[in-house]
Amino acid sequence: MELGLTNADATGIDARLIERATRDLPDGLTLLDAEQRVVFWNARAEALLSVPAHAILGQPIDGVIARVAAQTSAPNTTRTQLRAALIDRDPDRFVEMEIVADDKDAARIISARVFSWQDADGAGIVWRDVTRERTADAMKSQLLSTVSHELRTPLASIKGFATTLLRQDVKWDEATQRDFLRIIEEESDRLTEIIDNLLDMSQIEAGALRVAKEPTQLRQLIREVVDELRMRTEAHYFVVDLPAELPRVLIDPRRIRQVLTNLISNAIKYSQKGQITVSCEIEEEYVVVSVADQGEGIPQEYLGKIFERFFQVDGASTRRVGGSGLGLAISRGIIEAHDGKIWVESVAGQGSTFRFTLPIARAEPVEQEVSNE
Ligand code: ADP
Repeated sequence: MELGLTNADATGIDARLIERATRDLPDGLTLLDAEQRVVFWNARAEALLSVPAHAILGQPIDGVIARVAAQTSAPNTTRTQLRAALIDRDPDRFVEMEIVADDKDAARIISARVFSWQDADGAGIVWRDVTRERTADAMKSQLLSTVSHELRTPLASIKGFATTLLRQDVKWDEATQRDFLRIIEEESDRLTEIIDNLLDMSQIEAGALRVAKEPTQLRQLIREVVDELRMRTEAHYFVVDLPAELPRVLIDPRRIRQVLTNLISNAIKYSQKGQITVSCEIEEEYVVVSVADQGEGIPQEYLGKIFERFFQVDGASTRRVGGSGLGLAISRGIIEAHDGKIWVESVAGQGSTFRFTLPIARAEPVEQEVSNE
């Protein structure tokens, strides 16, 4: 790899010194002489812009700019902006460009900044990878728009029904009043749920999710969650399939209840009818818990994405059933805080099975079967 300078004598700069000084520089660095030719191009610039130093050392910067711009999502704009920045040499001016890649996730956002050196004869360009910052910015705006949209829907409903009830020109009978109040109560619960989800998500992202682990009987916990959720649907029937002997697991029962509730609620939401099976298997140091439905399933291309926050499969049923796309991201955060794994197997049109692992609480008495469903 050639990183040295050409025209070093002409520019009077010490190639080796600069190369040593910039070897571990996290930014790409380009130096130009008074004739606008590239005299230095460090390793980081090679990596960021996929342009090897040997191909451009000694070349006029104009051609190099064209080569860099050609890799971006807006070649003409990038070329014009970079040229203008080289003329201005305003250190406060940033040129941002998106370097495209076949794999969308490998696309990078690079920010370029021009400065002067050698009594303003020479110029330099610093290339910085700002992909992470820009992704965080995009996530923040997405968060804000999702949150406001999600909060607005139940709020509008609460406001609407409260206003209706307060109208003085209409006398509502008692049954209608109760109906309206029930809706207000349900929508308030929905608001609380969204806010709780957002708080959980921010704790997970800050790595601050606290889990209070204690040896817990999974059998009882699963039964309680299933009993609570089966009241919400008449179109589904539940099968709980647990081994005769189920060791206690070391978990935060409140948090694992939340995961199970999420997965079973999804099984209800994303299948119109049919069987929902909750089962457990023992595998070495873990209990593997599964929640299976016979619903619409998840297309192959989305399987890797559904645990990402705010991700929803773009289909009719997601719109119909609502939801914020946070449930699975939170579930994954909770399971990982238990040193477990969570994954999904699904065939579109045939149903989905979500599985997660929980650590067995060692040296604990084995839980005896009471009855099986
Ligand atoms: P939400 O249900 O609030 O949209 P989740 O994070 O729980 O958010 O789920 C993310 C997405 O994964 C859902 O929007 C849905 O598209 C898909 N999904 C989750 N569970 C299932 C399931 N059991 N069957 C089919 N699709 C599912």
